[in-house]
Amino acid sequence: MLATFDWCSVCGLPFKGTDRWQVAPGDDWKNRAPDVGLVFNEAPAHEICLVYAAR
Ligand SMILES: [Zn+2]
Repeated sequence: MLATFDWCSVCGLPFKGTDRWQVAPGDDWKNRAPDVGLVFNEAPAHEICLVYAAR
């Protein structure tokens, strides 16, 4: 639903041309799962929504 309608995964509002942000794992994650590589399994969100979610 999020991808189909281009909605933010945190607030559910549309992006309307604003940037989409995703959280990437840090270097410590690469050491724990060296064969997996960099994987994004979170839907994108607004920048302010990710900051809010991190707090
Ligand atoms: Zn949002």
